[in-house]
Amino acid sequence: MATLNDQHHIELMSFNLDNIIRENVKGLSPYSSARDEYVSDGSTMVFLDANENPFENGVNRYPDPQQRGLKAILAEQKGIKEENILLGNGSDEVLDLLFRAFCEPKQDNVITLPPTYGMYKVLSGINLVENREVLLTDDFQPNVSEIKKAIDEHTKLLFICSPNNPTGNSFSTNSIEELLNSFNGLVVIDEAYIDFSSEESWTSKLNDYPNLIITQTLSKAYGMAGIRLGICIASAEIIAVVNKIKPPYNVNQLTQEKATTRVLDINSVKNEVNEILAERAKLEEALTTVSFVEKIYPTNANFILAKVDDATLRYNQLLAKGVVVRNRTTQPLCENTLRFTVGSAVENKTLAEALKMI
Ligand SMILES: *Cc1c(COP(=O)(O)O)cnc(C)c1O
Repeated sequence: MATLNDQHHIELMSFNLDNIIRENVKGLSPYSSARDEYVSDGSTMVFLDANENPFENGVNRYPDPQQRGLKAILAEQKGIKEENILLGNGSDEVLDLLFRAFCEPKQDNVITLPPTYGMYKVLSGINLVENREVLLTDDFQPNVSEIKKAIDEHTKLLFICSPNNPTGNSFSTNSIEELLNSFNGLVVIDEAYIDFSSEESWTSKLNDYPNLIITQTLSKAYGMAGIRLGICIASAEIIAVVNKIKPPYNVNQLTQEKATTRVLDINSVKNEVNEILAERAKLEEALTTVSFVEKIYPTNANFILAKVDDATLRYNQLLAKGVVVRNRTTQPLCENTLRFTVGSAVENKTLAEALKMI
């Protein structure tokens, strides 16, 4: 039989969003913009509330601060609710908002798993939040026992990038599940490359884990890096907190329109992804024939990490032939590696020929 003491213990050991939110954010109510206060029901109204210029040019009105149209389509496609979605000016803005909502500067810390996406570290620096780095294992998987050791009562966020940039692999489901179950802070799974992956998105597990946050983006598979649209998916409670601190018009009108058109044309996106995956296989094949390529790492993304004899030399030789790749040699566990983005058939042929000539 559970005593009062046991129950208290259980409570301390389980996730509680109230313990995660920054003290000042708890007391905030969101800025209420003109477009928030009056929501059009479709009838023709005279809008004299926002000091806009009345002459129509397509963008003279403020955009919908809650991006309702776009969210409705995304929610349907992803099998979630609109209240589970927050949109940002790229996922980089979403990640920054997470720091600002949950991490007390100079007090809290986050955990990142290098080699990984560089933005987590940049954002921890900007927000003056300690970044505890726990290296991936030699096969680029989360080191669960070391991560658990790094966690303390001030650890608010754990960043898991899967498929991981720059290694390309997905993290094991078991490891991620164990972390979701044992960590009482927020687990942020960055799924920037999920559309290229053979693994399923974690969005289907949203209801199983109150501490799960997923970020996605239109920058990669959707081919819209230029419009800046990032997607944050989490419980309605978490989304409500982040909504309080987001700039009211963070996703502009042109982005909302372009994104809506693209997301509705999901078949084109899927066709392009399939083409990129076919090209990825060809590029992998081509890389195996290059004498100075020593190892090609398994990938679930639209890029391939490969170990070469001398990454800086090969990088410069490729540059001289007009091909820009990413030299990742300074990243931990990535000595002498190059990261090749999978391009068009023509671009990949140019790369393969350049590699052969070198
Ligand atoms: C490219 C990338 C992003 C995309 O960021 P946006 O700001 O949405 O363009 C996010 N996370 C990772 C791991 C990436 O590689």
